[in-house]
Amino acid sequence: MNSIPDIIPLNEWLTDNGRPLIIAGPCSAETEDQVMLTARQISAIPEVKVFRAGIWKPRTRPRDFEGAGEKGLKWLHQVKQETGLLTCVEVAKPQHAEACLKAGIDILWIGARTTVNPFYIQEIADALTGTDIPVMIKNPVHPDLKLWMGAFERFYNTGKRKLIAIHRGFYFFNKSEYRNAPMWEIPIELKRQFPSLPIITDPSHICGKREMIFAVSQKAIDLEMDGLMIETHYNPDKALTDARQQLSPIQLHELLAQLVIREKTGNIEIQSKLDQLRCEIDKLDAEMIEVLSKRFGIVREIGHYKKENNITILQQKRWDYVLNDRTGAAAREGITTDFINHLLELIHDESIQIQTDIMNKRSIGKSNE
Ligand code: PEP
Ligand code: MN
Repeated sequence: MNSIPDIIPLNEWLTDNGRPLIIAGPCSAETEDQVMLTARQISAIPEVKVFRAGIWKPRTRPRDFEGAGEKGLKWLHQVKQETGLLTCVEVAKPQHAEACLKAGIDILWIGARTTVNPFYIQEIADALTGTDIPVMIKNPVHPDLKLWMGAFERFYNTGKRKLIAIHRGFYFFNKSEYRNAPMWEIPIELKRQFPSLPIITDPSHICGKREMIFAVSQKAIDLEMDGLMIETHYNPDKALTDARQQLSPIQLHELLAQLVIREKTGNIEIQSKLDQLRCEIDKLDAEMIEVLSKRFGIVREIGHYKKENNITILQQKRWDYVLNDRTGAAAREGITTDFINHLLELIHDESIQIQTDIMNKRSIGKSNE
């Protein structure tokens, strides 16, 4: 059941005609000049609605630049006065939130390092009770959907109805081309759980480098995300934080011009062709489930046989053979090695679980005899 049902749709308070929400601005507010120069250039890009800047920066090491602090709020006020852009700022504690309310900031956002902690979230939500200020919540650093959902519920329960999710990618243990792996399945599942909640993507923190930002932005739009937050600096290479992933206002303008905004549904002819193809997918999925069920049936049979003959569950040689053989077969069918390995690992984990259960049942039975 959707526990945050009546979120106000974006086009009722922020965007025009279903166009994606575009938020741009530097990772950090560094100086008054840097903020104003960047904002003036960004305000010439019609798609951009909201100006972002970090005032208090969550840094891994204490000597790194930790943001301009409260004086930066004045610069943002000036941005709003001069350019008409709305402003948004990251808040990590109730005092930040209170300072932003006083300074007339339009929208607040919760950073990834704050979403991980329900105590912080509750304190900030409590501090904002009784105000109408919109809140955007970035996903937690690690891929924990429930923690992200819980943060929305905490703000919702204190009366907030203007909420937006920001998908900024997830900490990923294995080597990855991304700074934070996008794991699109998580924002997609968030949308399924909370259908009325708008979700925008932050390709800057997903990519970590500017060359990849266009592709991730287009993918977000193709997956029906409701907008983008893109770090933009008048002189990105000189930025005090996240220099590699910021665009110049010109680059942002070009990126937005090249972005293809697709229709959510097509005409009747397109729709019926899609329905027909989806029918085929439904049939194939049913067959796949039947095949998996047969496969697990055999796994059970093997489990009983191993148990009767006192043989270990995991036989490394056999597992190596399966991996090699299936990877080769998949490659011949044009399926990537990454994907097939992932799938086989899932199936293998389940098979081990089934056989472990069979072994345990027997030994518990024995000890009870
Ligand atoms: C940011 O937006 O500059 C930031 C610190 O992001 P995140 O919380 O996603 O790391
Ligand atoms: Mn940043």
